[in-house]
Parts: sequence; structure tokens; C-alpha cells
Amino acid sequence: MPELERTKAIEDFLKVVYHLQQQSDRVRTSAVAEAMNITAPSAYDFIRRCQEAGLLDYRSHRGVRLTEEGERIALEVLRSHRLLELFLVRALGYAWDEVHDEADRLEHYISEKLEARIAAYLGHPTVDPHGDPIPAKDGTLPERQLVPLSDLPDGSLGEVSRLLDQSSESLQHLQSKGLIPGARVRILRREPLDRLTHLQVEDTPQVIGETTAHIILIKPLNDNFLTNTCYCFSQPDATIGQREGP
Ligand SMILES: [Zn+2]
Repeated sequence: MPELERTKAIEDFLKVVYHLQQQSDRVRTSAVAEAMNITAPSAYDFIRRCQEAGLLDYRSHRGVRLTEEGERIALEVLRSHRLLELFLVRALGYAWDEVHDEADRLEHYISEKLEARIAAYLGHPTVDPHGDPIPAKDGTLPERQLVPLSDLPDGSLGEVSRLLDQSSESLQHLQSKGLIPGARVRILRREPLDRLTHLQVEDTPQVIGETTAHIILIKPLNDNFLTNTCYCFSQPDATIGQREGP
């Protein structure tokens, strides 16, 4: 099998396929092209090169799926990305809504040694500032059972654990309401007509709309939460949309 140079473009491509794979088993070429903002022939070119290098399994009409080796590389890049995000926030005082683009650039260039030093400095964390899981060195991801806030029944108590929309606008909105990872929330009541949820965030009452309620994943903290109505995010790394940061 020919060796493929691990360029930034190849790593970004594998990362995109990895993200799309969280939503469907095999990924259509058109979906890859769209997510990468490239033409279909360019996407085919990536697919062909990665297939030849054993990083990808392509079947015509059925789309692509990463091989074990392809997934290993995607997870390595994700590990660097998420460690960098946390490092920028904790050590350099970056805001959580400005680290994604910076990490996107740096993730391809840090050495293994620097990555190991960053991980040690941060105390070997398992989640990044947005609550995204950081793959361990061996490529495993921490398992968590998280539920969208929109699915929690009234009266439930939970902890904000992961945010699926990581655009600056959305993160700033969440922060203004105290909805950051680690915050305790209690669902008070809903107004179905206006699609509003009234909730207690730590000690402050807040109101959020339907869109926001969908993008906040919660770790339930009491049994008010019924498992049979649960839309559990038990797969290792569920993400929605491409803007979701790695
Ligand atoms: Zn992140």
C-alpha cells in the first residue's frame, strides 16, 4: 500500500468524514464535497488517494467509510484540536468562542512531544471547553449518556455537558445565560405555544427557545429523567453539523 503524506488537506478530509460518519454509517461523496466546500471531482480525488493508502473504504453508490487506520488518524487530529482549545482557554485566557479557528490551524503542526506536555499541563483532561470529548492517546473516547435539554421532563435536574452549535454567536448567547459545561440546571416549565423552556441555571431563572434547547446536551442528575423516553447520545462522538468544532 502506498504511503500517503499526512498533509493538512488529508487530515482535514479524514476529520470531515469522521464527523459525517457520526450521523450515518457510510458517507456520500456529495456530503463530503459540501462539508469541505470543494467540488465533487476534488472530493473523489481525496477519496481515491485515501483509498489507495488504506485509510478509506469506498463503494460506488454506497459512499465512504474510514478504515481503522483512517479513523485512528482522524482521532489523533481531534485529540490535538481539543487539547489545543482547552490550552488556549486555560493557559492563554482565550474566550471559548475564539479558540476553534486557532486550533484548526495549529492541530496539524504540533509535535507529539508538545501535545503530551499540553495534556500533562492540563491534567490529562477528557473534555474540551465546549464539552466535546478528547480522545485518549490510544484513540478511545470517554462514554457518556447525554440527553438534549429539549427532551428532559419538567422538574429534571442536570448538568450542562456539551454544546453542539459552536458558532461564536451561539456560544456567546449560551454564556450570557450561564449555560456553560458544568452548570447545574433544573427544568421548571415549558410554554409549548411559544416553544420556550423556563429553567433555573445555578441560582438564576432563565428562559430559552427551542433551538437553544436542542443544542445543549445534559448529563441527567436525578431519576425524574425517564430512560425510555431518552434520546441518548451513547455513541462515542455524536456531533451535529459541520460547524461543530472538532
Ligand atoms: Zn471544541
